[in-house]
Amino acid sequence: MNVLVINCGSSSLKYQLINSESEEVLAKGLCERIGIDGSAITHQPAGGEKKKTEVDMPDHTAAVKLVIEKLTDPSVGVIKSLQEIDAVGHRIVHGGEKFSGSVRITPEVIRAIEECNDLAPLHNPANLIGINSCKEIMPDVPMVGVFDTAFHQTMPKKAYLYGLPYEYYEKYKVRRYGFHGTSHDFVSKRAAEILGKDIQELKIIVCHLGNGASVSAVKNGESVDTSMGLTPLEGLIMGTRSGDMDPAIVTFLSQKLSVSAEEVLDICNKKSGVLGLSNNYSSDFRDLAEAAATGNEKAETALETYAYRVGKYIGAYAAAMNGVDVIVFTAGAGENNAEVRALIGQYIGFLGTNIDPEKNKLRGEEVILSDADAKVTTMVIPTNEELAIARETEKLVK
Ligand code: AMP
Repeated sequence: MNVLVINCGSSSLKYQLINSESEEVLAKGLCERIGIDGSAITHQPAGGEKKKTEVDMPDHTAAVKLVIEKLTDPSVGVIKSLQEIDAVGHRIVHGGEKFSGSVRITPEVIRAIEECNDLAPLHNPANLIGINSCKEIMPDVPMVGVFDTAFHQTMPKKAYLYGLPYEYYEKYKVRRYGFHGTSHDFVSKRAAEILGKDIQELKIIVCHLGNGASVSAVKNGESVDTSMGLTPLEGLIMGTRSGDMDPAIVTFLSQKLSVSAEEVLDICNKKSGVLGLSNNYSSDFRDLAEAAATGNEKAETALETYAYRVGKYIGAYAAAMNGVDVIVFTAGAGENNAEVRALIGQYIGFLGTNIDPEKNKLRGEEVILSDADAKVTTMVIPTNEELAIARETEKLVK
């Protein structure tokens, strides 16, 4: 089955066409600056060249049309016609408490996603635009929604409630939801598979360390805690997000800077994290590791502060599960950045991780970092959210 996986943002649309039987990526690409001057599509067929073309894309429907054109193009395409797309899988950021798994998209499902809009005002409306554009162009192709929050719906109340008056949870659903669920689910299952163990008998901590970053505690195959909250701002220090901080900082800075609370939150989302800590040097861990190695003290501080927070969360989740068998690093920095992993390694040795510094130098591949006799197996597993979405889509459509 050919599954078109769509990840739609407010002005962008990422796509992959995946054969769900062979799990091969047939083609992938990105539409950028949709509805803005200078819009462009970058398309790459499997084994072929990546090519960026500037094309006018006034809206997402135009972008989806263009994606289909590229996929069926005689020279750079990989299918003959639209009929060869058997299903579409959409990444949807927020499913609130309504979705604890992936679903076939129906008018009721669209309404329920709309009801979650105020929980993710930047993301969900964009995801819905993607769904509607695909529906317009491919009305008969079945579609599936895969939610970033769904995997974490198994969290117990004690993990998802904030210490706020209970009525705010009841009235407004103010609670912790968690994100990156598709990745935490994929990677924890893969860890059990690689180790040849039943996931039902494992306590796994997954560290998804990308530009956005989160840690999850996965016990017996279910998420029992995760570091992101009502929004993706909570938890770890990230590329540009502050992660956990005293909420009083919002009003304090709002007064000092004479700006609104929204503007302070914008700073916390876009100008903080390792970018802010490094004095705007970079949000990219490659740049920071390089700068730290050549004596940039702020870059060094940013990396140390980042790693310390990850280490603390790992400790906390070992306590939350009353033990840990496996720790997995994934996503951009988790998969590739040996410096970041080594810094985090300083805080988790007490668990019995025995990370081998030589193995830690490997990047971008599945590897067990710890010695054979380590009490806790530490691993790197590349995540693949698109493949996970294609698998879910196939499961629901078949
Ligand atoms: P993601 O959001 O998963 O794409 O992750 C982005 C982060 O991963 C960036 O901060 C990158 O610096 C980091 N990253 C990606 N590739 C590498 C690499 N080859 N070496 C070190 N860090 C990398």
